[in-house]
Amino acid sequence: MGSKMQHLMTTYNRLPLAFARGEGVWLEDSEGNKYLDAISGIAVCGLGHCHPEISKAICEQSSTLMHTSNLYEIPLQTRLADRLAKLTGMDRVFFANSGAEANEAAIKIARLYGHKKGIDTPSILVCEGSFHGRTMATLSATGNRKVRAGFEPLLRGFSRIPFNDLDAVRHAATNDQNVVAILVEPIQGEGGIKIPDQGYLAALREICDDNGWLLMLDEIQTGLCRSGKWFAHQHAGIVPDVMTLAKALGNGMPVGACVVNKAASEVFGPGNHGSTFGGNPLASATALTVLDILERENFANQAAQSGALLKQLLADALADKHGVKEVRGVGLLLAIELNKPCGELVMQAADKGLLINVTADTVIRLLPPLVASESEIREIATRLIPLVEEFLNK
Ligand SMILES: *Cc1c(COP(=O)(O)O)cnc(C)c1O
Repeated sequence: MGSKMQHLMTTYNRLPLAFARGEGVWLEDSEGNKYLDAISGIAVCGLGHCHPEISKAICEQSSTLMHTSNLYEIPLQTRLADRLAKLTGMDRVFFANSGAEANEAAIKIARLYGHKKGIDTPSILVCEGSFHGRTMATLSATGNRKVRAGFEPLLRGFSRIPFNDLDAVRHAATNDQNVVAILVEPIQGEGGIKIPDQGYLAALREICDDNGWLLMLDEIQTGLCRSGKWFAHQHAGIVPDVMTLAKALGNGMPVGACVVNKAASEVFGPGNHGSTFGGNPLASATALTVLDILERENFANQAAQSGALLKQLLADALADKHGVKEVRGVGLLLAIELNKPCGELVMQAADKGLLINVTADTVIRLLPPLVASESEIREIATRLIPLVEEFLNK
């Protein structure tokens, strides 16, 4: 702490906090102060910090074989793909190293799919308020203007519509012959935990089927049990054509995945896409262990229960307060939306030993580890509620 970081690029607005170690839902700084982590490294460490089984898998795999290359077969990668196919009911997987990279694969698949149908200028519908990453293609797809500003010319081939607006999708279907896919988050994460109306995803599925479009879901933040189901789209009872994953898949080990079904699984052939590190033995062994634990201990269920409890505690205390727009959430993707910018709450909470996040200026976002116990969930509410009350009374 207090270092000048003069040789780091100034790409982040960092908080003046640094952690030395972590265990479960707790992080500790170099002075021994403990922080209850209600953000999980932005939905990454769902199984908590330094889960012993994951640490062991990393140690063992790193002393057996870390990397070979996709020049060769990688049995652990094959097993990981089999597991993801079984969990999703989808056909094939491409492995990358981040969320943005997983989305890059999805975007390339949509374009090639379009070209194979004879559409020379394929277009992908994307939503206002969305976040898909920071590479040129994914920032072009992203709805947040701040992410795009200064990086023009943006990639063409994206057509933007409001989130949760089926009429806009239907309008595109009748008026734009170039559309080949829609890329959407089942719940907008960075955009402020925005939950679409019941029926939205099912209707998108139908529109995509009717028009021969790919339904591409960015589940990088919502996937892997956080929403109370393995994948957020399962609440809608549908299966997408393309789904991207990253964040929680490695619990801190960088792993991304682009999972595809049916027609979308026949788009890429040899030479169309690749990654040096993608799905290497270390990443694959880690992700396999993550999936083992999520499945064995039924963390989808746990997230549903913990999330319902935390939402209830927060809503009971805050929902009717002047200045609170809404307390909302699905599973352990939770938000308290206020009627004014509340970024200052982040450091105030940290001073009380609680790590939270504020996104979209006015939304307190909570993404606690799925492993949080009932008493830890209650402790998050106990620490947060008085801070929000005080902030609102100012
Ligand atoms: C975090 C996130 C990304 C980008 O993932 P990176 O690993 O940072 O590239 C993309 N989409 C969503 C919905 C995300 O939450």
